[in-house]
Amino acid sequence: MPFRNLGLEAEILRAIQQAGYVCPTPVQAAAIPKVRQGHDLIAIAQTGTGKTAAFVWPMLQRLSQAHRQGTPCGIKALILAPTRELAVQIMGNIRAYGRHLPLRVAAIHGGVDEAAQIKALHKGVHMLVATPGRLLDFLGREKLDFQPLEMLVLDEADRMLDMGFLRDIEAIVGTLPKRRQTLMFSATLSKEIESLARRFLYQPKMVQIGKRSNPADTVDQCVYEVPAHLKNALLLELLRQPKFTKVLVFARMKDGADRLTNFLKLAQVKVAKLHSSRSQEQRLQALQDFKDGKAQVLVATDIVARGIDIDGVSHVVNYDFPVNPEDYVHRIGRTGRAAAQGDAISFVPKQDLNLLNILELSIGQRLDRKRLRGFDYHAPIPAPAPGEKPPRRDWRKRTREMEVKKSLPSTGGSRARDKR
Ligand code: AMP
Repeated sequence: MPFRNLGLEAEILRAIQQAGYVCPTPVQAAAIPKVRQGHDLIAIAQTGTGKTAAFVWPMLQRLSQAHRQGTPCGIKALILAPTRELAVQIMGNIRAYGRHLPLRVAAIHGGVDEAAQIKALHKGVHMLVATPGRLLDFLGREKLDFQPLEMLVLDEADRMLDMGFLRDIEAIVGTLPKRRQTLMFSATLSKEIESLARRFLYQPKMVQIGKRSNPADTVDQCVYEVPAHLKNALLLELLRQPKFTKVLVFARMKDGADRLTNFLKLAQVKVAKLHSSRSQEQRLQALQDFKDGKAQVLVATDIVARGIDIDGVSHVVNYDFPVNPEDYVHRIGRTGRAAAQGDAISFVPKQDLNLLNILELSIGQRLDRKRLRGFDYHAPIPAPAPGEKPPRRDWRKRTREMEVKKSLPSTGGSRARDKR
């Protein structure tokens, strides 16, 4: 289907052409006509399928037509997103696609000083992108007027629920006009999402691209059977291969992300890191360095990396195996975006094999097993070279030993020594 069949106005088509797109993606072709007809919509589409444009283009169309007819400025559209990074990214997309239109957009999210956000609101905006927490805070202080609102978008709705935003969303939607068009985008369709749709959407049309919870077809997936103590070494080995140009590495916890980043830095790898304990400025800088190619690797935790759009990610590496299948789908959706080919590699130490089984059942697909000699389950722990320090002992073993020591009576240590 050519873009002109979507019925979008010339200024939007020009911006699309400047973005270099050739034809609409399936979610755009399916969703945009329904949105343009004014229906509420629930769209289930994997990340990387072009779903942001699927709501931004018809939204720009509707607001620019109203603007031309002289409707006064005011917040006409609200987009709720789970993280600050995603909110900033959506705002960037709106600016790019709306570059030939006289419409203004602002973003409200935590982690930065609110003064600039208040200033932007005072200037008057047509579209507001927000994370639920900061928005609710603004609403409580009566800094927002949603009377003129015509459209609401809940983006990454499944993630917002995972992050515990249900109450905030309920409170926010409660302040919006009842007569509005509501669009909900989610990578997965769960009972909770269906229930959210029943409550907030009116006779919604549904668009579902791909199978439920299935990772994008453009991603080659495999797992490496690697013992936990060799994950760092295996990662380094892979990063030395020339095709690993832009590698997004997922760690489960912030501490783990910090440790891995330090290890990679010591190994002279150009690395940036993204997790929720970093300031907004540091996070944006890390993303920019990765986007610009100043960092070959971005180490990230799940929550902040959700929905982030970075062109040309060559590989996603699940350094820590994701605990639930939804996170897996979101993680690997960071590569192979918009029909480009990508690779997703998961490290699976023995203790995570059950998580792998659950994932395979959930996505209905068995992932390719790979073994690299010297890095597999049977790899011997190398003996230290002469003069080299012995490898650090396993922390679990050390903790167990310390616990046993503690549980001994205070004289136990010397008694044990005496016996020897
Ligand atoms: P999203 O799923 O919204 O995060 O979009 C993923 C990527 O697809 C972004 O990099 C967009 O710039 C890109 N994109 C959106 N629409 C199209 C299109 N029609 N053709 C090619 N790329 C697109």
